[in-house]
Amino acid sequence: MYPKVYVYLERIYENARYLNNLCNNYGVNIVGVTKVVCAEPHIAQTFVDSGISILGDSRIQNIKNMIDNGIKAEYMLLRIPMLSELDNVVRFVDYTLISELKTARTLGEVSKFFNKKIKVIYMVDIGDLREGVWFDNAVSEVSEALNIKGIEVVGIGTNLGCFGGVIPSKDNMQKLLDIKSEIEKNTGIILSVVSGGTSATLPLIEDKNLPKGINQFRLGESIICGTDATNRRIVPGTRQDAIVLEAEIVEIKEKPSVPYGKIGHDAFGRKPSFIDQGMRLKGILAVGEQDISPSTTYPLDDKDIEVLHASSDHMIIDLTKSKFKYKVGDKIRFTLGYSSVLRAFTSSYVEKVIL
Ligand SMILES: *Cc1c(COP(=O)(O)O)cnc(C)c1O
Repeated sequence: MYPKVYVYLERIYENARYLNNLCNNYGVNIVGVTKVVCAEPHIAQTFVDSGISILGDSRIQNIKNMIDNGIKAEYMLLRIPMLSELDNVVRFVDYTLISELKTARTLGEVSKFFNKKIKVIYMVDIGDLREGVWFDNAVSEVSEALNIKGIEVVGIGTNLGCFGGVIPSKDNMQKLLDIKSEIEKNTGIILSVVSGGTSATLPLIEDKNLPKGINQFRLGESIICGTDATNRRIVPGTRQDAIVLEAEIVEIKEKPSVPYGKIGHDAFGRKPSFIDQGMRLKGILAVGEQDISPSTTYPLDDKDIEVLHASSDHMIIDLTKSKFKYKVGDKIRFTLGYSSVLRAFTSSYVEKVIL
């Protein structure tokens, strides 16, 4: 069945191993984040084989699936939990990120019921505007969380780059460390974990700019894709071809570069714009927005192919510049960026081939 994604486990292993060494040498422990591949068990096992001991995912279902597949690791829930899933959090999770006292208290209650203490990393928003207590209020809120019975607040963490696109820096990492010191001074309790970042924080290690004391990174994209979308870069020392998509051509025709007729909006409510380049040789691949994101779908073998656009189930490519004579039925291979990997693994229409 096409489309297919090929998963090269050895390449993922290489990336994981490389990043694990890089971070460990800097006193930073890695949480291997599996959400972009929907916690595909072979990939999760590869993370563990590479030396990663904590696996992180946003979805309880994914964590449960890894446990059911016998993957031996500690598990971290990355998305701050819903009140309605706390019983499952207690059952399946070792660490959870939290940013609400109400959730922390309820978790404490539920924990008592199951007689199991969950380790909590309290999230602090140092500017990106996604989860976490705003930094000005962090010392008092986390100090209060440290009093809650039934949970163990082991540290603080932050998330950057994901909503506001804020780039991790020496300054905002230091801010997190200052908050940690204040909390420790305030409460007399030592926080053992400072979970500083995602793949977007790696440049601070590469450039030796990470302040001492940040001791955990939660890495997904850099291990699986070898990229860092926030900084728009390839992560040095990693490969980008661990996941490869293969899709089949269902039409090849000469067509104009500009549509014919009055232009409204496309299938996704976007207003397309076109440059007149005359007649072009265009192909349609049987893959679409439901399976990938065309802006992060990159031709692997033939760099002269240009990805133009996609609707739900059709991706349009321009073959005019290619040296090859493609025909209907041919398969084309692509490497994928983060958003495309996420969709490909979420789509049940994409066959996964583990190599
Ligand atoms: C997704 C996620 C990560 C991993 O980010 P990458 O960019 O894939 O490295 C880390 N932390 C949290 C809270 C996340 O949701």
